[in-house]
Amino acid sequence: MHAQRFKLTEEQRALVGTVRDLTIHKNFRANSIKYLDGTYPWDNLNDLAKIGALGMSIPEEYGGTDLGVFETALVIEEVSKNCYPTAMALMGMVGVQVRVISNFAPESMKKDILPKVCSGEAHLAVCMTEPHAGTDVPNYKTNTTIKGNKAIVKGVKTLISRAKEAEWFVVFTRINGTPGRHGIGCVLVNRNYPGFEVTAQYHTMGGENLAEIQFNDVEVPLENVILQEGGFKKLLSAFNTQRCLNPSVSLGLAEGAFEEAIKYVRERTIRGSAVSEFQGIQWKLAEMYRDIEAGRALLYRACLSANPFPDPHEAAIAKMFVNEMAIRVCSEALQVHGGYGFTDDYPISRMYRGVRYGTLGGGATEALKDLVGKKLVKDFDLADGFLGMGTF
Ligand SMILES: Cc1cc2nc3c(=O)[nH]c(=O)nc-3n(C[C@H](O)[C@H](O)[C@H](O)COP(=O)(O)OP(=O)(O)OC[C@H]3O[C@@H](n4cnc5c(N)ncnc54)[C@H](O)[C@@H]3O)c2cc1C
Repeated sequence: MHAQRFKLTEEQRALVGTVRDLTIHKNFRANSIKYLDGTYPWDNLNDLAKIGALGMSIPEEYGGTDLGVFETALVIEEVSKNCYPTAMALMGMVGVQVRVISNFAPESMKKDILPKVCSGEAHLAVCMTEPHAGTDVPNYKTNTTIKGNKAIVKGVKTLISRAKEAEWFVVFTRINGTPGRHGIGCVLVNRNYPGFEVTAQYHTMGGENLAEIQFNDVEVPLENVILQEGGFKKLLSAFNTQRCLNPSVSLGLAEGAFEEAIKYVRERTIRGSAVSEFQGIQWKLAEMYRDIEAGRALLYRACLSANPFPDPHEAAIAKMFVNEMAIRVCSEALQVHGGYGFTDDYPISRMYRGVRYGTLGGGATEALKDLVGKKLVKDFDLADGFLGMGTF
């Protein structure tokens, strides 16, 4: 048997081609400066809705196209190459919050919400992080008390994306005060329910706004409790998708930065020669390209492990590598622009800002290293060596 060289299928190439045509036609890259002040990219999202991209992770019966994690990641990568805030907003439409609803919510909720997500009418947010605990999930304090046919949500979530724009919030919450990870389930909250309040806003270096949300004894119908205590394993498995989609944002930024670097060094001259003629610059380009290709291989492999959610360790390994690789690549791409790279006039400065997000969200690098390190210490089999971890 011969090993096969990895290639995108015709359908996957066509999918990426459709997205690429849209980003070029609508000038996503040059226009990305519009969103640096926190303006939400509604216009780009409406265009993405028209090509079906907002329903990528939603089953066909609810109006989506039911693409796999890999195809979803390819689309995010292509968008991110051109506009970080749009890629982040798109990730909000196809990421963990939608997957939690698609996979675990009652039928009535799916029928009500998912078609509106596909059309772009309803935007979703996910509320996990709390002021005292981001990575420290077992110490989440937000609690939902179930009383008869009602559930009452109380707590504070922070650094939440799309807090101003989203209609529905998938809230990770303790159920009935049950302690530890085991006690965490999740509840769907509408922003119009009494007691829902956006209490602080943060503007990020990437452009988007984040916010703090207070749930002041918000009463929700019992049907809105998507997962009771004991549901945390399911939430975590859905969250592994985020660990593939977050690095697809980073990968796209690295690729966009590489393209900008190539364009600039070919055009810019020093003492009569193109900057691209210097060996020092060519070495930078070679290293950038090498690292992007290595990152693609790791990330695509992790995405392809999904069934329906990605393998946690492959996703963690890909995320750790791609997030840090993309920061280095964007930094080097800015460097070859000289001082102009630091100005708002060149897209590279926006890519450099956006790429810093990757290692922080969707599972911080340090926490993922813990996860992978522990697995290696426990399971690495010296007899099987690198064949033994089930990767190949
Ligand atoms: C642009 C952006 C968008 C976001 N959107 C959302 C959103 O929509 N919803 C949401 O819920 N949250 C969101 N977040 C928050 C994000 O998920 C958290 O910032 C993240 O989980 C880290 O939590 P923290 O900030 O509390 O850091 P902490 O958990 O306090 O971590 C502080 C530092 O300690 C490190 N650390 C953690 N564990 C270990 C360990 N075991 N060993 C060594 N070091 C460790 C961390 O890596 C980090 O460097 C967003 C953040 C950003 C930047």
